Amino acid sequence: MSDFIPVCTPVLDGNEQRYVTQCVETGWISSEGEFVRRLEDGMARHCARCHGIAVSSGTAALEAAMHALGIGPGDEVILPTFCIISCAGAVVRCGARPVVVDSLPDTWCMDPAAVQRALTAKTRALLAVHTYGLTVDMAPLVDLARREGLALIEDAAEAHGQSIGDAPCGSFGDISIFSFYPNKLVTTGEGGMLLTDSDALAQRLRELRNLCFQPERRFVHQTLGFNWRMSNVQAALGVAQLERLRPHRQKKRAIGQRYAELLADTPGLILPSPTGPGCTNDYWVFGVVLDDDIPLGAEDVMRRLGEAGIGTRPFFWPMHEQPVFLNMGFFAGESHPVAERLARRGFYIPNGLGITEDEQQRVARAVKEALRHVA
Ligand SMILES: *Cc1c(COP(=O)(O)O)cnc(C)c1O
Repeated sequence: MSDFIPVCTPVLDGNEQRYVTQCVETGWISSEGEFVRRLEDGMARHCARCHGIAVSSGTAALEAAMHALGIGPGDEVILPTFCIISCAGAVVRCGARPVVVDSLPDTWCMDPAAVQRALTAKTRALLAVHTYGLTVDMAPLVDLARREGLALIEDAAEAHGQSIGDAPCGSFGDISIFSFYPNKLVTTGEGGMLLTDSDALAQRLRELRNLCFQPERRFVHQTLGFNWRMSNVQAALGVAQLERLRPHRQKKRAIGQRYAELLADTPGLILPSPTGPGCTNDYWVFGVVLDDDIPLGAEDVMRRLGEAGIGTRPFFWPMHEQPVFLNMGFFAGESHPVAERLARRGFYIPNGLGITEDEQQRVARAVKEALRHVA
């Protein structure tokens, strides 16, 4: 269908081509190139952090964070059940136990009171995940981590440029991470970033991402590392994207606010909250949730929208309902009703930076049409 509106397409309208060409012309395409350092410094400065460590994906960043913090067998890490598999996957891969908590019904982000209740003597770390454009209420988690001596990891993969009060997302964790996947607000195609103020953690992360080569004697290893390096070509895209973060973020917000107006008072439809704890919604995605009295699930409405040429994506599926984790013996018999409901009744609609006002109107009309006879 030629007039299909995809859920997201990246916009590369700054210096991307120029910087990538520079890599090709100079031959600096590996992870040793100068754009990697520039992207690391740029992200660190942006979030008022001391160190940036670029890696190959947001998922790699999460795994690197767990390894660098020494989390392993016998440890528990508390995280939201409503998030991407990368988060719980990173906990499981380092041999620790993921302990999941429900989301708040208004912001869809993890509930700090539930985190408090999930604490045990084995809790080693908290993993806070800013979700869909709103932020986790960080103040109680920062307090809790300090009081209990826990590591705090902040997943800001969906929160480039977002802040809580005056504090940038990416400034809260012992380690904070970002993703640069193409649907994120800064993209390198594939890529990720870790930020920290600790010299020791930064050094450990740099070793881990580069096979734990040692400066004294190359090819002699005391510990096993990984190849999580980012290439200079990817970083070149990222440097150009970071230059455009401010206008792109404004555009994203404007798209979200326009949908909020176009879809206001649609019977049967719950819209994302325009504000969260200390923040206004960035609308990283524009998620909608069907009212309980609508006799359709998200799948049905998404199918109808697909037939109308509108791309959609389902919401996250809760970690405590993932076959892979249930088969490993995690989460047996657990229930987290807010996340379960979001997963079954939520989906998001096209809000890529390239979307036009006309296209947004078409999307809004199609959403209303899909619900007309059922709401
Ligand atoms: C996208 C995303 C990730 C994973 O990033 P990749 O670069 O795709 O590996 C991790 N956490 C959150 C919250 C994300 O949205």
